Amino acid sequence: MSTRAIVVGAGWSGIAAALALVDAGVDVALLDAAPQAGGRARRVEVALGDRRYALDNGQHLLIGAYTETLRLMRRAGVDPRRAFVRASFALRYPDGFLLRAAHWPAPLHLAAALASARGCTLGERMALAVWVASMQRMRWQVAPDRPAIEVFEGHPDRLVERIWQPLCVAALNVRLQQASAAVFLAVLRDSLGADAAASDLLLPRGDLSGLLPDAAIDVLRIGATVRLRTAVVGLRPPAARGWRVETRGEPLAADAVVLALPPARAADLLASIEGAPCAETVALLRAIDTAPIATVYLRYAEHVRMPHPVYALREDAATERYGQWVFDRGALEENCAGVFAVVVSAKGPHLDRDRHAVVAAVARQLTADFGLPAPLATAMLTEKHATIVPAPGLQRPPARLDAPGLYLAGDAAASPYPSTIEGSVRAGLAAADALLADFGLPPRAAR
Ligand SMILES: Cc1cc2nc3c(=O)[nH]c(=O)nc-3n(C[C@H](O)[C@H](O)[C@H](O)COP(=O)(O)OP(=O)(O)OC[C@H]3O[C@@H](n4cnc5c(N)ncnc54)[C@H](O)[C@@H]3O)c2cc1C
Repeated sequence: MSTRAIVVGAGWSGIAAALALVDAGVDVALLDAAPQAGGRARRVEVALGDRRYALDNGQHLLIGAYTETLRLMRRAGVDPRRAFVRASFALRYPDGFLLRAAHWPAPLHLAAALASARGCTLGERMALAVWVASMQRMRWQVAPDRPAIEVFEGHPDRLVERIWQPLCVAALNVRLQQASAAVFLAVLRDSLGADAAASDLLLPRGDLSGLLPDAAIDVLRIGATVRLRTAVVGLRPPAARGWRVETRGEPLAADAVVLALPPARAADLLASIEGAPCAETVALLRAIDTAPIATVYLRYAEHVRMPHPVYALREDAATERYGQWVFDRGALEENCAGVFAVVVSAKGPHLDRDRHAVVAAVARQLTADFGLPAPLATAMLTEKHATIVPAPGLQRPPARLDAPGLYLAGDAAASPYPSTIEGSVRAGLAAADALLADFGLPPRAAR
């Protein structure tokens, strides 16, 4: 009889775990409380005036270093070359400031970016080169962990403000002052510090569900059981072996359970187990803080375009400049001509403002920076718990939990990476690997 596993949560992490287990011959059931798969990276229909658009619960950006995500997409039958517009890394501001990597072998791509940086003085370029060289010598590692701002001591303020702070907020969804230096440097090492392709920007041509969840669920429906609209409400170890997964309907039995859930939901389920075998894990999960991301969608006339599909925006809450990045969705997909997505990441003063005030401020920012007219229609989507806060020294529980046959995936699980799509996919694969090893099944790599 084959091993039976239940994966709880059909976000990108749960999908990664489920597909890896199916490929290993495990009998898999994938459950999700929501009516659709994709979790925090999924399609949402948004009304902008008299038209409805297939957009996202929040604008996402992927990079070339997302190797496991790209592999997973291919496994599900999605060709990343069609799914993304791929561009060399560029940090481009509307006022002309530009840091752009060349498509040369590492580390020349980075050297070229530093040498050709636009809007920087010679002294600033030198400071950048010295800092990058010192990080390369340190192999992009610090011990003990500390707030990321501390690795920029003595660095020119303007470069921190224009380069490192925006990159930290984009990758970690917290500012340098709250971020783990170890996690931020791991991201830089694997992107800017690796070969040029790793730092490429991957801009989704369509909505996020089309990138993976739709295709993956189709594949899983053939080799596994997929149950959407099925919330798991408790876990019970039966007398003999395995687990009973309680839903609002019939309970389901399995030899192993993978929890691919946000930290608070995983904590709730682990706390429901009689005898509290995972009390330490529950405490770690409950100590994880989360941070929000808001996306403001603005619709203009269809011919309105920006010269490039993505720009960094100068953030300054004091003058109500809340937007940090703007994406011209019309440059990426025909159906969205005239639609722009502005990202407002992390905690900030905008959270204390009424949403209409934030949207109006973002529209003014685009007018000031690009000369855009007033938008025809707007919408704002806020994910309150978009990502976990990678605070210095944050401890995340390992994939293998303190009860046999129970595994943790998702961005709550231990990882050198922040709470991103790639981090979640890797955590899903790590949970699947642990399960395969414990049940004596051949490892994934051997296939
Ligand atoms: C607005 C926004 C912007 C972002 N931008 C980026 C970006 O640019 N780049 C990037 O890499 N990452 C970005 N992220 C982060 C990325 O989306 C997440 O890290 C990733 O999607 C998390 O995936 P996951 O599978 O770990 O968790 P989730 O996506 O949260 O999946 C968990 C699933 O569990 C289900 N669930 C919850 N409770 C239960 C239950 N009791 N029973 C059954 N099912 C349950 C949920 O419905 C959900 O589908 C962004 C996130 C947001 C919200």
